[in-house]
Amino acid sequence: MGFGLKDYESVAVSVVIDKIKRLGENLQGYSVLHINSTRYGGGVAEILHSLVPLMQEVGLDARWSVLEGDQDFFNATKQFHNGLHGQPVNVTGRMMESFLATAKRNRQLVAGENDLVVIHDQQPLGLTAFRGDSGSRWLWYCHIDPSHAVPPVWYFLAPMAAACDAAVFHLPEYARDLPVLQYFMPPAIDPLSDKNRDVSQEEYDTVLNNLGVDPEGPPVILQVSRFDRLKDPVGLIQAFKLVKKTRECRLILAGGSAEDDPEGAAVLDEVRAAADGDPEISILALSPDANLEINVLQRRADIVVQKSLREGFGLTATEALWKGKPLVATPTGGLAHQVLDEKTGLSARTVEETAAQIDRLIGDPELGRRLGADGREHVRQNYILPVYLRNWLRLLTLISGRGR
Ligand code: UDP
Repeated sequence: MGFGLKDYESVAVSVVIDKIKRLGENLQGYSVLHINSTRYGGGVAEILHSLVPLMQEVGLDARWSVLEGDQDFFNATKQFHNGLHGQPVNVTGRMMESFLATAKRNRQLVAGENDLVVIHDQQPLGLTAFRGDSGSRWLWYCHIDPSHAVPPVWYFLAPMAAACDAAVFHLPEYARDLPVLQYFMPPAIDPLSDKNRDVSQEEYDTVLNNLGVDPEGPPVILQVSRFDRLKDPVGLIQAFKLVKKTRECRLILAGGSAEDDPEGAAVLDEVRAAADGDPEISILALSPDANLEINVLQRRADIVVQKSLREGFGLTATEALWKGKPLVATPTGGLAHQVLDEKTGLSARTVEETAAQIDRLIGDPELGRRLGADGREHVRQNYILPVYLRNWLRLLTLISGRGR
């Protein structure tokens, strides 16, 4: 994408940029190798695309390598992923073998000299077997909430996590019983990316037109999410139906085309059944690269909802707050940190509470404007890329021992 630190001066508070420069002075030449398992798709890849060039600009020797695996490996790691999220899964010998054999095939990734190796998520954790005695420090960065992990998955992965020097989780409540130092660092959105940057009127009109969304008309309530039961799209439809009894409004549920994901396709069917042909409910299937579409939909929305039953961090909420939108969200996981109730958004736990909060916002646009403005500032202070880079540099200063 190619944005430099200077470009972020327009969106970040200036003390953050100054701090980045100062922290960077002590970290010149410090070599950090990030390893994950995909170059494209998913939040980790998205953030590394922006973060690694900025780390380089600051003076670090930052690099990013991708572990290569076959279908068997990714089938296994998908199960591990589900198990870390708390879903009951069966860990078979074949899955463990594929996981470890893939690490072995990729061991050249960690053969070089690095001050720090960062293992993103669980897929590359098998590489810990090839740490050797190079003197590099190793960090495991777990980007999901593992606090409900099922035992077979956790006890397979935990020794590999324990073979690192430290672990990073998004939130303190995700800490696990691991015999390593633990740090906490929430993720961030890139305010300059197509998903979050300002859009021109022409882009706005064109995208809405292509999506078949009316730029005018009654208030629009939006949830952007994968079609996943934990995002509770059906619960949101029920809430919408309650609101509709007394308010004129529209609901848009937008999410990646779930046709190629068997679970997603089933949820999409449930969502369509719950919508029951209601012309005021739009279910939009988006392509994986629909960044500008998501951006424009969030800007079109009058109220954004994140009705998740459980949520790791909830970047869709961050994106909506960044656009100054009033957000109604379940206070779970990262959503509870983003929506400070009655300050940066409104909390709602049940269908009825969600409906009541949406109703309040429709009736009181001034409340929505205030919450939206404070929500945007909350994101600016805590959850945008320059802040994330500063947090990284603070962590590296600690780990490297290069602090003054
Ligand atoms: N997203 C997307 N297309 C979709 C649904 C979501 O690009 O159809 C993006 C969304 O804008 C956000 C990320 O994927 O940047 C989802 O992150 P979040 O933390 O909200 O939830 P997750 O899907 O990781 O559970």
